[in-house]
Amino acid sequence: MTRITDLCHPETVRVAAAHQAEAEKIAAELAAIAATGMILPGSITQRRTRCGRPNCACHADPPRLHGPYWQWTRKIAAKTICRWLSPDQHRDYTPWIDNDRRLHELLSRLEALGAAAFDADPRWERQASRPASRTGTRAPT
Ligand SMILES: [Zn+2]
Repeated sequence: MTRITDLCHPETVRVAAAHQAEAEKIAAELAAIAATGMILPGSITQRRTRCGRPNCACHADPPRLHGPYWQWTRKIAAKTICRWLSPDQHRDYTPWIDNDRRLHELLSRLEALGAAAFDADPRWERQASRPASRTGTRAPT
């Protein structure tokens, strides 16, 4: 995917046209989603609950649980944060969660493009005769 156009200046890495076209497509979608400002991390899940009243149907056999309720959950620094949502909040914020998920998918695709170009760099071939670095995968010669 990646081609080095000037071997005297190998720092000049140019991406292939197909790579560039895909990156621009991804960038356009990223920008469109970002421009909405409607991005929310975390997830929304449906919950059914038991209350504290011992004679309530939610403690019967079989139980008739309360709900459904909607709960937004997010992990911040290994701590889970939850908030209950009203039905209209659930309806309004679900697209925000979907947007956040899509942003991450698009970033992953950009990273995959970059990783593929990195792997295709012809300088890896020219380095084959060099001793491997400590973090390299090639065995010392
Ligand atoms: Zn109950």
